[in-house]
Amino acid sequence: MQKCEVCKSNFSWKELLLSIWSSYKPVECKNCGKKHTISFASKFFVSFLIIVPAVIFGLLIAPDMGLTKPMTFGIIVMIAFIISLILPFFVKYEVKPKTEKA
Ligand SMILES: [Zn+2]
Repeated sequence: MQKCEVCKSNFSWKELLLSIWSSYKPVECKNCGKKHTISFASKFFVSFLIIVPAVIFGLLIAPDMGLTKPMTFGIIVMIAFIISLILPFFVKYEVKPKTEKA
């Protein structure tokens, strides 16, 4: 699980999950207040992990099972939800490099 890059305190699973759900909102360290943003590679990885199973299910599995469109959509949302629950274990957050003027 992700640690704060500054003080090494742990981020919680819930914090990271909420960040992913709110389209990668930066997470703030509870201990030192340093903001961490998801790394570009992790963003890519998250989209990949959600889109690939959704597409495979929607295009290959659902038609094969004869599911209706609303059913297919509901199951895709469920798959995405379940996958997102394990994402906090894999994503990498980093301290945002200061780009704005001091
Ligand atoms: Zn910290």
